[in-house]
Amino acid sequence: MNKKPLYFLAVLSCLIGSLYFYFNTTHELFFDECAFCDQKVLIRQKFYEDDLVIALYTHKPIFPGHCLIIPKRHVERFEMLNEEEISQMGRVIKKVNVAASNVFGTSSYILLQKNGLEVGQSVPHVHFHYIPRRTGHNSTLKFLIKMYIANVQNPLSRAEMQKVVEQMKKAIESDDINR
Ligand SMILES: [Zn+2]
Repeated sequence: MNKKPLYFLAVLSCLIGSLYFYFNTTHELFFDECAFCDQKVLIRQKFYEDDLVIALYTHKPIFPGHCLIIPKRHVERFEMLNEEEISQMGRVIKKVNVAASNVFGTSSYILLQKNGLEVGQSVPHVHFHYIPRRTGHNSTLKFLIKMYIANVQNPLSRAEMQKVVEQMKKAIESDDINR
């Protein structure tokens, strides 16, 4: 078997990965304002809110259904959250999972949460990425490539974001009513 294409892919993904982290970390060093405390971002992307936690749809989804779960309070790292916030974030992740699987027909998901520059934390405000996948979509290579290119892809348009935020709002509300 000719392994050249595989080596090429491996080198290419390392290169894209390095660029991704380079831009992410450089970006953060000059980031005065926190994106997740920015009302403009919240108004556009928020589909759930309670006393402690907010859920947003990401502007550059890795896969359809990619959401962010954040504490309402500006807290930089996971270990700085209080017990109440930690448990409420867990509850909201479960709600988001039910809503996203209803809206996007997804069945599996990954949670990703970074603490610190060295692991590529891009916004200094705790955020859990909830990244779901549809049944049968299990290629790891596709996941890695999509993850690397997510940051350089075009963000969702205002109309696309509005549509998905409405869908997620409805799904979360109807799940709450049915409990
Ligand atoms: Zn913040």
